[in-house]
Order: sequence, then C-alpha cells, then structure tokens
Amino acid sequence: MFVEKEKPERQYVRTLTTGWRFTLPSQIRKARGWDDGTVLRADVAGDSVILSEAGDRQGGMGSAEEIPGMLCYLGSGGKMVIPANVREMTSWNLGERLAIKDEPEGVVLTACCQRNRCRSCGRLHGVAEVIDNLFLCSECWRRYVQRSIVQGAQSNEA
Ligand SMILES: [Zn+2]
Repeated sequence: MFVEKEKPERQYVRTLTTGWRFTLPSQIRKARGWDDGTVLRADVAGDSVILSEAGDRQGGMGSAEEIPGMLCYLGSGGKMVIPANVREMTSWNLGERLAIKDEPEGVVLTACCQRNRCRSCGRLHGVAEVIDNLFLCSECWRRYVQRSIVQGAQSNEA
C-alpha cells in the first residue's frame, strides 16, 4: 500500500466577539506551552495573522517588539484581544469566524466561512443564503430581485 498517512490537519474555529476578543484553543496553548500572561507577537501575512511568542527571534529579522501595537497578551482561559494595528491591517469584522491552525511558523489565524459574507459587497451584516450557496446581504438581494423583475418584464415584452 502506498497510501501516505498525512497528519490530520487540526483546525479550530473561534468567533471574534465584542472587544475584538477570541479564545485561543487550550489544545494549542498546551502544545505551545503558552499560559496566562504569555506575550505574543502578531505578524500579518496577507489576510492571515501569525502568532508567535514575543522575544522568539529565531528569524533574526526586524522584530515586532518595536511595534507595540503588534503585541498581545494571553489572558486567563486563553482569551486574547486582537491588537489595534492588526485590526487595521486585516479586513476582519466583529463576528468574524477565525480558523486557527497550529503551524510550524506559529499559530495561524485566518478569517474563514467567507461564504457568510455578502458575495456582492462583502458585508457580514444581515447576510442570508438567498439561493443555495449564494449569500447576499438584504440590500444587495433587493437590488438583485429588482433587476430580475426588470429583466423578466423585458423578456416578456419581446
Ligand atoms: Zn451586499
């Protein structure tokens, strides 16, 4: 048998709640030895954020320590707040679902469940699955319906 046994990819999903808080899963904290009060640095890579232990300078590159806005602190029960600079650099919103993966380079946070965003304008508010796999906010849905009615009327006249 040549079936490659891949390590199952562990992914956790947490919601970004009021105050830009979310909970780092205990499995990840345990695996990394992160505890209450551990200082983490956040590096933004595209629309992902990589968390690693502050002061862990194995890369030897410019460290985040000089940028206070990129540091975050692990609170009790793994609660942490997304630093202000990170909020600006990512397009995350409150209520965002974050996929959390433990990777060799750090703990990677990525906004997931993008399908719950309005496909048309990207908004998260008032979004519903209007047709199978089509998520639209109420405003875009109304526009869509109006356009369909107009098009329908035109094709009836033809
Ligand atoms: Zn929309």
